[in-house]
Amino acid sequence: MDLYSGYINKLIDELATLPGIGAKSAQRMAFHIINMPKDRVERFAHTILDAKENVRYCKVCYTLTDSETCPICANLKRDHKTIMVVENIRDLAAYEKTGKYQGIYHVLHGAISPMIGIGPSDIKLKELIKRLEEDVEEVIIATNSSLEGETTAMYISKLIKPTGIKVSRIASGVPVGGDLEYIDEITLLRALEGRIEL
Ligand code: ZN
Repeated sequence: MDLYSGYINKLIDELATLPGIGAKSAQRMAFHIINMPKDRVERFAHTILDAKENVRYCKVCYTLTDSETCPICANLKRDHKTIMVVENIRDLAAYEKTGKYQGIYHVLHGAISPMIGIGPSDIKLKELIKRLEEDVEEVIIATNSSLEGETTAMYISKLIKPTGIKVSRIASGVPVGGDLEYIDEITLLRALEGRIEL
């Protein structure tokens, strides 16, 4: 039995496809949107479209940005010889929030996971290797301490070792299986400062 009209069902279904949004939240959001003034709904819809049309990957580090190069990569005051490798943009944001890291980043957009069929070519790995042709002194691997994160870290270090570039891994102060995003800044800084050369 359909409780609601086709339009509202369609809206609920769309919202429910968003990460972390269950059926109940999707319903609540749908009713909220229906009750919003029309101009607000229009603004909201345009914001989504504008973001989709204008946001792209930074051509250097692959974080999301409005321009060709993100503000971090474009900042000449940052240390461009140190690259921190993270799994996703949320992890980059977590390190940026500490305000202490002066290097630049590389966003992999995932981690190697043979279990679900994600191999090295499914993440931004060859893009990282390409960057090593520039003047790079250290690559800090800050993937999560999950099985996938560790597998990825090992894989990357094996690739980089022969180049002679220093490779380090953030310290294990980060709890196993911990998502970097949810770890407090002090723990993150400690993990960074206590990094171990591989
Ligand atoms: Zn960038």
